[in-house]
Amino acid sequence: MGVHNYFLDKNMSEYDMNYALTELKEQHPWLRKYYHSKMLQMVTHQVAAARKTATGKLKYRKDSDFNSFTYNQSGFKIEEDGKLYLSKIGRIRIVLHRQPVNVKQVTVCRKNGKWYADVACETLRRSFSTIIRYVKPPVGIDVGITKFCHDSDNHVVEDNPQFLTKMLKPLRKAHRRVSRRQIGSNNREKAKHMLARLYERIHNKRHDFLHKKSAYYASHYDLIFLERLKVLNLTKNHRLARKILDASWSAFKNMLLQYKANRVVEVEPAHTSINCSRCGYPVPKSLAVRTHVCTECGAVLDRDYNASLNILKRGLESLMMLPVERREVTPVEIAMQSRKQEEAHVLRRG
Ligand SMILES: [Zn+2]
Repeated sequence: MGVHNYFLDKNMSEYDMNYALTELKEQHPWLRKYYHSKMLQMVTHQVAAARKTATGKLKYRKDSDFNSFTYNQSGFKIEEDGKLYLSKIGRIRIVLHRQPVNVKQVTVCRKNGKWYADVACETLRRSFSTIIRYVKPPVGIDVGITKFCHDSDNHVVEDNPQFLTKMLKPLRKAHRRVSRRQIGSNNREKAKHMLARLYERIHNKRHDFLHKKSAYYASHYDLIFLERLKVLNLTKNHRLARKILDASWSAFKNMLLQYKANRVVEVEPAHTSINCSRCGYPVPKSLAVRTHVCTECGAVLDRDYNASLNILKRGLESLMMLPVERREVTPVEIAMQSRKQEEAHVLRRG
């Protein structure tokens, strides 16, 4: 490949090579057109690594030497329909042996005329994964206002539809009625009684829902991480809604804690919605922003999903079960259409 041999002659550091790469791309627009930027950076990385370990002079490499190319951090996606998307190449039909999670790097290579994709995933430390083999996996749960909760397995529990909007109006009315009646009067006692009945009905409905949801989490997971309740400043209009939501969250938590789940751990809520769950980079956003888009590593995911992953991570850290980078290679056989194969050939030739 041209870029490899180009850099081989030059005694440059990896940093300088990457800098030169930007200039090269200006001079040769086809580089940008056909190659993903991270893939080109992997070439300079390989040259730098080869230079470090080589004993003699580095060899120039022929086109046929290049049987693989690598995407690191970005430029790839394993799609839900089981296709592999590679930037600048397209969608490729693949045979998935198992569903990879937290994919960090994809290397496409050719072995005996067949194409494979080696998928490197970030997983938990082995000592921990041997433990969790015998029990149910841990989960992080983010509770919210727009939906009841979103967990670290990307499972969303929607709130009862119109639960709040349906209940708020009669509640406000009942509250107003009580305050309008004269203190000590019979009518006030009646109004108070009606208000109490209304709260009771809400409570019953709500608890039915909360029992079902907490039972779901208790039966699917042995270790549950929740945030300590965060205090939000809300305007007067929202205060009643907020009170009810707070009450449901703590009821949900108590159900898990007291008689359902094996183990529930509360974690500090600070920055769980801001930090990137993939790289840790802080991405501040207002409540209206529903998607987390990381400017550092390019991760794009639902805001609450991101928060729940942070809660899980923080929970595991608090129990000293730190997730560490461990490369687990999952071979994924690729059934490439011939057209794609030709395209890949063009790519590697440069
Ligand atoms: Zn990130």
